Amino acid sequence: MAAHRNDVLVLGAGIIGLTTAIRLAEHGAPVRIMTDEPSARTTSAAAGAMWEACLVDHPETDRWSRVSHRRLLAEAADPASGIRVVSGVEATRSPIEVPDWARELPGFTEVDPGTLPPGFVCGWGFTTPLIDMPAYLAFLNDRLDRLGIRTERGHVDDLAEVTGEAAVVVNCTGHRARHLVGDDTVEPLRGQLVVIRNPGITEFFCEHTDDPAAVVYLLPHGDTIVLGGTAEKGDARPAADERVTREILERAVALFPALAGAEILDQRVGFRPYRAPIRVEHQPIAGGHVIHNYGHGGAGVTLSWGTADDVCAMTLDLLGAGRSADRDR
Ligand SMILES: Cc1cc2nc3c(=O)[nH]c(=O)nc-3n(C[C@H](O)[C@H](O)[C@H](O)COP(=O)(O)OP(=O)(O)OC[C@H]3O[C@@H](n4cnc5c(N)ncnc54)[C@H](O)[C@@H]3O)c2cc1C
Repeated sequence: MAAHRNDVLVLGAGIIGLTTAIRLAEHGAPVRIMTDEPSARTTSAAAGAMWEACLVDHPETDRWSRVSHRRLLAEAADPASGIRVVSGVEATRSPIEVPDWARELPGFTEVDPGTLPPGFVCGWGFTTPLIDMPAYLAFLNDRLDRLGIRTERGHVDDLAEVTGEAAVVVNCTGHRARHLVGDDTVEPLRGQLVVIRNPGITEFFCEHTDDPAAVVYLLPHGDTIVLGGTAEKGDARPAADERVTREILERAVALFPALAGAEILDQRVGFRPYRAPIRVEHQPIAGGHVIHNYGHGGAGVTLSWGTADDVCAMTLDLLGAGRSADRDR
């Protein structure tokens, strides 16, 4: 590998790596990406995806979510982004007080329980960005191309291999940080979902529960709908399980009979990088600088631009310190 000691190497081309690289480039930092899988094959490409923080742990979650919300809303103006701002309902099967955070969501309304699907007793409506992830990742990669950022294919076994090759390495390796960094606190949560042809549904529906193993959600993306989904610890199977697909469809059709017989277009599997808390921090490794940016759990899309901002600020500080040291030499 050629030496690029003045630049930033972003490891990973999922949503976290791409947003981080874009923020760095937007601030004028020299940056390149290295990844062993293209964006289209990452967990990020498998996500639903809805702007809402779930299966995630960090005290800055709200702040990071708001930063991303602003950026996603702005990007939604471009149809190529794959982002739609959609209204819908989140609901529970047992009575609860509507959570305070829900009341702050744009377009919040309390929903008449009599209008909820069978089995649901409490619900609230709001408006949120829904992100068609394959389209959005392609949109972000186009943005990187226009910013002149190169993506190299390569696998890293040990961060010490690359710290000498860049002024700062940003580690955006998602659930595989568990092996790369030896961080046993990262738990991959396997998720499976199904993409079907949309028979004409325009609003999202999302089950709210403390037990995410098997929940119902329905995210309309124009001609298609993403149906969810599962969240399982300790299941590393990368291929879709046909039985799970059938169960996802059955649960959805029980609530929305109009979905019966809809054509299945795709089955997706991904591994949410759950870590309590998300790791956004600097670590000196082998005489170089690593900034970790992983562990976003079930909310990587929701938090991506927020964590990218913080990582960008930390990186620019390190680059500035390096440049001052060079000047002083
Ligand atoms: C079914 C499902 C539904 C979801 N729904 C939502 C949702 O509605 N809203 C939301 O906000 N989030 C959602 N998520 C969560 C979200 O998808 C993740 O938090 C996010 O994708 C994590 O992104 P990442 O970039 O950290 O990791 P990844 O997308 O896994 O990317 C990691 C990158 O690192 C690279 N890499 C890893 N190790 C190495 C190595 N050693 N050398 C070189 N490259 C390496 C990989 O090739 C890849 O490019 C969902 C997840 C799933 C599975």
